[in-house]
Amino acid sequence: MAKDKVTEEYGSLVFTDADMQERLPKPTYKELRKVIDGGKTIDISIANEVAHAMKDWALEHGATHYTHWFQPLTGITSEKHDSFMNPTGDGTILMSFSGKELVKGEPDASSFPSGGLRATFEARGYTVWDPTSPAFIKDEVLCIPTAFISYTGEALDKKTPLLRSEVAVETQAKRMLKLFGREPKRVITTVGPEQEYFLIKEEDYEARPDLVLTGRTLFGCEPAKGQELEEHYFGAIRPTVNNFMKEVDDELWKLAVPAKTKHNEVAPSQHELAPIFEQASLAIDDNLLAMEKLKLLATHHGLACLEHEKPFEYVNGSGKHDNWSIAADGKNLLEPGSNPEDNLQFLVVLASLIAAVDEHADLLRLTVASAGNDHRLGANEAPPAIVSVFLGDELEPVVEALMAGSPFKSGSAEQIDLGVPTLPNIFRDNTDRNRTSPFAFTGNKFEFRMCGSQQNLSDPNVVLNTAVAEQFDKFATELEHVPADNFVESALNWVRKTLKAHKRIIFNGNGYSDEWPIEAEKRGLPNMKTTPDALPVLIKPENIQLFQKYGVLTEPEVRARYIAKAEQYAKLLNIEVKTMLYMARDMYMPAIISFASDLATGVATKAEIGIDAKAEKALVAKLTAGVDAIAAGIDDLEAKNAAAQAKEDPQAVDDEYRDTVIPAMETLRAAVDSMEVIVSTDYWPVPNYNSMLFWV
Ligand code: ADP
Ligand code: MG
Repeated sequence: MAKDKVTEEYGSLVFTDADMQERLPKPTYKELRKVIDGGKTIDISIANEVAHAMKDWALEHGATHYTHWFQPLTGITSEKHDSFMNPTGDGTILMSFSGKELVKGEPDASSFPSGGLRATFEARGYTVWDPTSPAFIKDEVLCIPTAFISYTGEALDKKTPLLRSEVAVETQAKRMLKLFGREPKRVITTVGPEQEYFLIKEEDYEARPDLVLTGRTLFGCEPAKGQELEEHYFGAIRPTVNNFMKEVDDELWKLAVPAKTKHNEVAPSQHELAPIFEQASLAIDDNLLAMEKLKLLATHHGLACLEHEKPFEYVNGSGKHDNWSIAADGKNLLEPGSNPEDNLQFLVVLASLIAAVDEHADLLRLTVASAGNDHRLGANEAPPAIVSVFLGDELEPVVEALMAGSPFKSGSAEQIDLGVPTLPNIFRDNTDRNRTSPFAFTGNKFEFRMCGSQQNLSDPNVVLNTAVAEQFDKFATELEHVPADNFVESALNWVRKTLKAHKRIIFNGNGYSDEWPIEAEKRGLPNMKTTPDALPVLIKPENIQLFQKYGVLTEPEVRARYIAKAEQYAKLLNIEVKTMLYMARDMYMPAIISFASDLATGVATKAEIGIDAKAEKALVAKLTAGVDAIAAGIDDLEAKNAAAQAKEDPQAVDDEYRDTVIPAMETLRAAVDSMEVIVSTDYWPVPNYNSMLFWV
């Protein structure tokens, strides 16, 4: 039977396992597989053979260049293209690619943020092939996924700690599973990232320097219509958007990115793309590819894709849900089983996760902190900045009963002899979801909903993996010496004890309510509202200790990340400030002044013929007062920004932005927005919310 187009093209631009098997000699393929599956280091002769086969495959698929594709601390991807071409000296060329070129690259590390790790005298950094993520072709370039490290081996990127955290959780999970008599070959964490974004007309985008330079509107008064009619979510997709989404799917499928679901989101012009989950590190690579394709392909349709967490005030911002689970040889460990032992194991994993989230709620909060996400978290559209866990109607009574030590009986789950409840296999269909919870059990996985739409999901997954590894470690260490006869009872006791100790993190109520922050404070749960508030968490001794213990990040690496993150926040805000000043001075003020002048001329002319244009006169006065307010706002913002920039310590700079600069930005915005309401659209220099959000 002929294959359909999708089946035919799926993964056609990826150097897949099948391609490797077909093109590599059997022993070479076997060796490579060991490297991919078991973290074995690659031998240069094997690398040479793989490079050769990869190059032939790439040339056949139209590639002319190759690049090491990596994720510096900016979170986005970087690439530098080198052609395969090598002159032979007699006027001809050879297309070549060596094992050395495949395995290692040397970009100039001094041009990427390093948080001070890379002293300027040693600018060298290396990109190192990550064979667990397959190579692919993008725009005629063979892209080789890599990790980016310094000359002395410190991680300079988002991927290295993620890979290390995957090793940590796998190691500890295997110890835990061994006690249940299971010895899986591989334990991996799985991630399915749901990506939200906005689509607006490209011409509107280009007319707004704030969108172009900062990704969000820094000005704009409330549109006549928002999302109150609740008509956009899951609504019919407009033809232009549909064509765009189809092209995105086609392109992603060629790259073996398993794009699955697409729909309209809550805010006008907001959409979502969700792929099928994959191993965490691969899912994150694929999410970055998806983000890149969304941006790029939008331009084919006269659209601009906005991935910022808060492009528009007055309507919802965009997040990225991190659906997380853990699987042993393909079996999801958060899937309750059909016999008591499986259920006990499920309960151990569940309790471990609850404990992990409670003990490291501050770190999890930190991993989603960014200037952009600060506009969302806690703004009644996204989970609050307080981390809590939602278990749902099925699981909560089970957990309650376990904690109380009481037998559990209900329609859906029943107690059996061993004292282990048999859990029904219905969690998967658990539809009673609490959309306001930051960390929700959704049937057979947890959904971490605080992540920002433009963020690289590595950081939250590094913390999740490491924190869970720590709990599995505790479980195994405690139970490894328990005689087999007592295992079930001891394991159940461990579950009880762990759940009881971390009860405070479980919250099934409304996370948007005014009572929750008060209740959370009573429970001792951290509530860090902004990025500068959350930043110091990273360098708390116990957190450094955690990363160190599980080989995920060294102390210098953690400290460097803290500095890089603090600096990035200030840099972003500085750009926002400068963009505001530019727009206010060069666009809004002249527009308002010219509207006021034209009005004033009209008023004067009318006066000459004896007409007293009362309303117009009043409007001129209002506009003039508005210009004064804007001018004052500009001076104030400029001064406060300069004061913030003058601070030495990165944390002090960020605190200053939070305390003085951001309020000054809000004041200036309010002054301009109040003018937008009364200035004619013919004079207004940029498209407004009405036209940007509701285009046809
Ligand atoms: P929603 O949360 O919007 O209702 P779904 O329940 O369909 O959506 O799933 C959302 C995401 O969760 C998808 O990307 C899906 O692949 C992913 N997912 C499902 N099972 C797992 C799992 N075991 N591990 C990680 N992600 C998963
Ligand atoms: Mg979801």
